[in-house]
Amino acid sequence: MQSQPINFQAPTEEAAPILLPVTTTLFADRADRFFLLATGHSLGDWLAFLGRLSAAQQAALKCLPPLDLPPAEALANARTHAMPPLDLGKRPAAWRDALRQIARELAPESPEGAAVALATLQAAADDDLEQLAETLLDGNLDAANAGELPFVAAALQVVYTQLASQLDAGHLQKLDAHHVCPCCGSPAVSSVVRLGAAINNLRYLHCSLCNTEWNVPRATCTACDTDKEVALQELEGSKGAVRAETCDACKNYLKIVYQEKDPRVDPVADDLATLALDMLVDEAGYQRSGPNLLLIGAYSG
Ligand SMILES: [Zn+2]
Ligand SMILES: [Zn+2]
Repeated sequence: MQSQPINFQAPTEEAAPILLPVTTTLFADRADRFFLLATGHSLGDWLAFLGRLSAAQQAALKCLPPLDLPPAEALANARTHAMPPLDLGKRPAAWRDALRQIARELAPESPEGAAVALATLQAAADDDLEQLAETLLDGNLDAANAGELPFVAAALQVVYTQLASQLDAGHLQKLDAHHVCPCCGSPAVSSVVRLGAAINNLRYLHCSLCNTEWNVPRATCTACDTDKEVALQELEGSKGAVRAETCDACKNYLKIVYQEKDPRVDPVADDLATLALDMLVDEAGYQRSGPNLLLIGAYSG
């Protein structure tokens, strides 16, 4: 019997604890968002370039060969030990092809600094690329190759987003450490308060690497779990679509984007379009709890 209509809005339906990335549109939507945010923005050229980078990520994802998930035994093991199933140490080699494709596509019209980094990456041997991936994933950032890291991150995002999308959400579980991704163990870039049936007004943290989202309570610090000393900060004159949640217990902060204020907000693009908010809370003595990988190295070289 398949003729029964499914009621997605049944009040008894439980909100999904984990939302896996939708690979057909994710990076293309992010590209559109970057282009929109770039208009009239003081960092417009950079945001538009990141729009082109996101579009190149979508194209690279489309060209990926089928990727192998870890074997069933490893997946079961991860579940038993409450570990993320995707291992950042066992990267599919396809990430390097994705990187070279992205570099080829972006090189012709890229700003000067980026052009040098892209040329270096296109000429780099496999071992050197693996070394850069290690550097990035260890968070061990070396100013000498800082310019290359956002592109390395972009390519790793492509393969880990594809891998995450192939997992079975029903077999995943949230980890004890609420701020790390249940698929790949990376820290969250920001969180999003969602609109939509069954998930309306719920907050999800968004993985900085594989774009998976997982449900966390609102008004609770995502770094230390306290609900006592959190506050929301926003830029004067902003429409409230992006706020920083600061915590006085652990002195960390992370941004929240609100679909209710703007349904097109993106946890990565809107984060980078509001660096002024980072500066504000940074000056007030708070430290960001998770990175935006497209920014890594961009200002430190
Ligand atoms: Zn992840
Ligand atoms: Zn805290």
